[in-house]
Amino acid sequence: MALVRLKAGRRRHPAHPWIYRTEVDAVEGLQAPGDTVDVLDHRGRLVGRGFCNPRSMLTVRLLSREAEPIDEAFFRRRLERALALRERLLPPGSPARLVFGEADGLPGLIVDRFSDVLVVQTLALGIERHKSLLVDLLAQLARPSAVLERNDAPVRELEGLDQRKGPLLGDPPLRVMIEEHGCRLWVDLWEGQKTGYFLDQRENRAAIAPYVSGARVLDAFCYTGSFAVHAARFGAREVLAVDSSAAALELARENAGANPGGDRIAFVEANAFDLLRSLDRDGERFDVVILDPPAFARGKSTLPGARRGYKEINLRALRLLEPGGVLVTCSCSSPLEPDAFAEVVADAAADAGREVRVLEFRGQARDHPVLLGYPESRYLKCIIARVD
Ligand code: SAH
Repeated sequence: MALVRLKAGRRRHPAHPWIYRTEVDAVEGLQAPGDTVDVLDHRGRLVGRGFCNPRSMLTVRLLSREAEPIDEAFFRRRLERALALRERLLPPGSPARLVFGEADGLPGLIVDRFSDVLVVQTLALGIERHKSLLVDLLAQLARPSAVLERNDAPVRELEGLDQRKGPLLGDPPLRVMIEEHGCRLWVDLWEGQKTGYFLDQRENRAAIAPYVSGARVLDAFCYTGSFAVHAARFGAREVLAVDSSAAALELARENAGANPGGDRIAFVEANAFDLLRSLDRDGERFDVVILDPPAFARGKSTLPGARRGYKEINLRALRLLEPGGVLVTCSCSSPLEPDAFAEVVADAAADAGREVRVLEFRGQARDHPVLLGYPESRYLKCIIARVD
């Protein structure tokens, strides 16, 4: 077994699964990048066993605290545990994130289920090397009709991995229809963003129900219209949904057409920052504004710019709200901690001269569990607030 020796003064919480290059004193006996290694602290005690990729800033991704074999039986146990959790959380066969990477003890592995198709990402070299075994195990344990690889994910470049997309099993269809809270939604498996659909917002989409009945709603950054379709179904009087992606809006329009109340949704292709400003200039007002922008911060270095972006979009949204209106504002930037996000919204409120009362401070859906000690896994924030 190859070894990674750490410098003194390590490290984060014992549950944290990453070893950064800067923490490493020496790598000994590694045959190939992606091999399994034992990580020893500066006194030679075992920290854990994991995948080593010297090319990556995240040099080791820990799999286990113990010196257990990392073999088929190991991966089977981890997958069974992840699948069993989703079985308890969700009705059988429903759309779900079956595996959420590090938080499920499978670093770099994402598996989403839409209908009976699995969409898989292997975002780190170590897990990539076990891809065919993992697909075999998933085929046995989850019995999908097809498995699609969506490894067209730029983060793979940090691991020295290429961009690729295609079937790993069977013949995945271009799109499938899913159901969420009684809404029927198309998922574009091959061309959609990330794995095709943002399952992490599932519970937040349901959470808007009490606020949207009879309301005029703005859904900014609507992607394929999932919040908009929910709002219409929950009784919104009128919904305006905006996104900058023409492809997303094309599917969003189909989604609207497939649901009751969908004719009350209007879609606009625009930059949300510009559109919100021009709506304000035109004196347009809304009872509910939903903001679900893409991650503005990827790492700590981009945090200051990201804060400015979140503040600006929230400021523009606050200006559009009727007194007593409701803001549903989200951030999926993992370096922006929940309290820091609330602070940004508070700053925007101060600039807008509005009072904001938080009704719900929400996170990601339960099939994206948060591993304590690994704050990066707590990435989605969703504040629902009344605005006066
Ligand atoms: N709310 C959606 C997910 C939104 S993902 C859901 O629940 O499914 C973020 C979306 O923002 C993407 O669809 C992307 O195309 C869009 N986007 C990114 N930058 C934008 C901008 N400046 N203006 C409008 N839309 C933007």
